[in-house]
Amino acid sequence: MADVVVVGGGVIGMSIAWELSRHGVSVKVLDQSVFGREASWAGAGILPPGNADAATHPYDRLRGESCRLWPDWSAQLRELTGIDNGFRNCGGLEIRLAGPTDQLDDLAEAWREEEVTAEVLARDELLGLEPALNPSTVVGLHLPQKCQVRNPRHFKALMAAAAASGVELVSGAPVVDLVRENGHVVAVRTMDAEHVGGQFVMAAGAWTRRLLSGCGADVAIEPVRGQIVQLSARPLPFTRVIGLGSRYLVPRPDGRILVGSTEEWVGFQKENTADGVAGLIRFAEELVPGLAGAGFERCWSGLRPGSADGMPYLGPVPGHDNLLVAAGHFRAGLQLSPATAVLVRQMVLGQDLSVPVDPFRCDRVDQATGAIPSAH
Ligand SMILES: Cc1cc2nc3c(=O)[nH]c(=O)nc-3n(C[C@H](O)[C@H](O)[C@H](O)COP(=O)(O)OP(=O)(O)OC[C@H]3O[C@@H](n4cnc5c(N)ncnc54)[C@H](O)[C@@H]3O)c2cc1C
Repeated sequence: MADVVVVGGGVIGMSIAWELSRHGVSVKVLDQSVFGREASWAGAGILPPGNADAATHPYDRLRGESCRLWPDWSAQLRELTGIDNGFRNCGGLEIRLAGPTDQLDDLAEAWREEEVTAEVLARDELLGLEPALNPSTVVGLHLPQKCQVRNPRHFKALMAAAAASGVELVSGAPVVDLVRENGHVVAVRTMDAEHVGGQFVMAAGAWTRRLLSGCGADVAIEPVRGQIVQLSARPLPFTRVIGLGSRYLVPRPDGRILVGSTEEWVGFQKENTADGVAGLIRFAEELVPGLAGAGFERCWSGLRPGSADGMPYLGPVPGHDNLLVAAGHFRAGLQLSPATAVLVRQMVLGQDLSVPVDPFRCDRVDQATGAIPSAH
């Protein structure tokens, strides 16, 4: 019997499995299809900066803890598996193409309160840094500590490290039910087996709400489709991640450029749409006009585990003594995965928590309305 059974083998479930196993815990991970092929594969791999010591809100502390862990995790994974996950500090620009020049000042101030370097740059300074930018850019925020990771490579490394440390990996095993006795989970049931364990962690991304529906816990997680277009331009016309609101361009060192991403509440439909792809290409050309001549390589989409308030659900499922949830990381599951895994390890082993988890609890209520947050 495994000490811990993790349901869901995306970046969250696999990070938890690796973290637990290297602390001496025996782990089994079940996935309904192929490991790491859902949101964790589809993501763009942007890792914003953070500082756990200066941040005050637990969400920002979680981001800060992850920032601290990413370089170490990447180095350890490379050493253990030989796989380079492409983690690197590329810097980032958040730009505006119209409007007043002071519109990013508050954002810059919020970063500085976390003691993160953030400089508001005028048009000429921006074009000095990235000459390919649209010359109509009026203002930009420079975050030199922004990083990126090649998430499919990171996942491959995580899975190899987990397997090497003894994690039992079972793919093609959709969990359909939990076997419970008086608030204690005995096993999770797949079509043809029952998987017993000491503790259980539900890390099934956008599917977690369904999984927990029989347990009296209504985690407000819904799938939020995100489409991405991949272009290629060699040599790369820019080197930093460039963002405008919720959309962005991510340059990879090999000349690939990711253009993301849409936010669509369309249930579990994962296909790309003409409108989504065309909108992203227009966006890319608007930010960097030279991309009109870039090659079109491919497009894809993924289902983010969207929570109504944008924060993950992390911690015990009420009414159960051995059931935890780690899901709902929305647009930030890659960046938050190392700190999430450490927190879950601390909960499983009864250790002090590095970040307070109260705001992430399953039965949290919406501060504004007093209601359980409902997704869009
Ligand atoms: C287009 C796009 C861009 C993104 N960009 C970024 C980014 O730049 N930075 C960032 O930090 N985040 C980004 N994200 C978000 C990030 O990808 C997610 O938050 C993260 O991958 C969630 O990981 P997860 O393991 O919870 O979910 P998933 O990767 O979806 O994994 C969940 C797993 O659970 C399995 N599962 C589901 N139900 C069951 C069941 N009943 N039984 C067994 N297994 C089950 C699934 O098969 C799946 O493998 C992006 C997401 C998208 C879609």
